[in-house]
Amino acid sequence: MEKVIIIRYAEIHLKGKNRGYFERVFCVNLERAMKGLKHELHRTSGRYLVTAFDEARMEELCGRISRVFGVHSYSVGLCVPYDLDSVYRAAREVCPRAGSFKVQTHRADKKYPMTSMELSAHIGGRLLDEFPQLTVDVHEPGHTVCIDIRENGTALVFGKFERGAGGMPVGTSGKGLLLISGGIDSPVAGYMMAKRGMTVELLHFHSYPYTNDGAKEKVKELARLLARYSVSGRLLTLNVAHIQEEIHAKCAAELNVTLLRRFMFRLAEQTARDVNAKCLITGESLGQVASQTIEGITSSNAVVKLPVLRPLIGFDKEEIVLIAKKIGTFETSVLPYEDCCTVFLPDFPAIRPKLSFIEEEEKKLDAEALMREALATKEVFEL
Ligand code: ATP
Ligand code: MG
Repeated sequence: MEKVIIIRYAEIHLKGKNRGYFERVFCVNLERAMKGLKHELHRTSGRYLVTAFDEARMEELCGRISRVFGVHSYSVGLCVPYDLDSVYRAAREVCPRAGSFKVQTHRADKKYPMTSMELSAHIGGRLLDEFPQLTVDVHEPGHTVCIDIRENGTALVFGKFERGAGGMPVGTSGKGLLLISGGIDSPVAGYMMAKRGMTVELLHFHSYPYTNDGAKEKVKELARLLARYSVSGRLLTLNVAHIQEEIHAKCAAELNVTLLRRFMFRLAEQTARDVNAKCLITGESLGQVASQTIEGITSSNAVVKLPVLRPLIGFDKEEIVLIAKKIGTFETSVLPYEDCCTVFLPDFPAIRPKLSFIEEEEKKLDAEALMREALATKEVFEL
């Protein structure tokens, strides 16, 4: 009796002619996730099987599989020869000793001498005989014993479906550049785009010496946590302290944040071109703070040509926090730190800045020189 992990995939079946491509990317991502843990990955009709793994590390293996986008569900089960006695022995391993249950059979091998119904009835009957505390309930069973008769003379027997990460294989939806702060929202935004199959690169702005190394370490830790979901294991950083100083010295105080954000977007677009990303991604949510009004969004969008994806735009903070907790970034995000946006923060930031006023104020700055200086501070961290 061999322990196996059965992996079922999510939306790949929707992709018609592209299916082969999606499956190849999915397979590469699964292999990457399981790297360093002993295993074999086999593709069988409509699912993947992981075999030959170290049972002592099965939990870790399952954890990694559960974070691969495209995994709809997975089950730990047993692979046995498909004769009745072997299937029965496996079934009694995965079935509890008491409570309601049913047996459900699927036959990929239609030449199997029994129908699905007959096999279910046979195995169910034997379980009832051996364990009198069991009762059959075909409508709402407390437990289901699943039997999958394969074409190669084996059967897969399992009891539970574990939920996978869902979504689409990372790498099938192009590449985007996430503006990642140390906050709660942007890591969630990156997770959500990766979930839809996007390769996500990370860019962080700091204001050294106004912000310290702690802030940077925190973002690196967030990047590491996101890497478990196939978000790039690389973090790019740029220093914008000199830009903030210039804005602070020369421009209307209420536009500090607005003007800084326009520089962030310009720098992000430039960086996106360098890494071949086709869009920017932010963690903005409508109305959450002064700069996240439609006017604020318009003023940032006005300085870039690339599309800006804001997957959290319609989310409440509470909903974002829930996802952050689920994906394990929340604890790190709430550690105290200084974000560059909080340096030189005006008392009353403009909530509905007029584009004409913004552009007027911006003329007081040498945008090109400021950009050049910022881009020269680029650092790359492989995590
Ligand atoms: P977050 O929780 O992601 O920090 P927030 O609610 O604090 O978001 P803002 O500070 O207005 O909101 O930032 C809005 C978005 O701008 C962030 O979600 C992020 O995408 C981007 N951003 C903000 N600060 C930085 C930074 N220092 N480096 C990179 N991107 C940033
Ligand atoms: Mg923030």
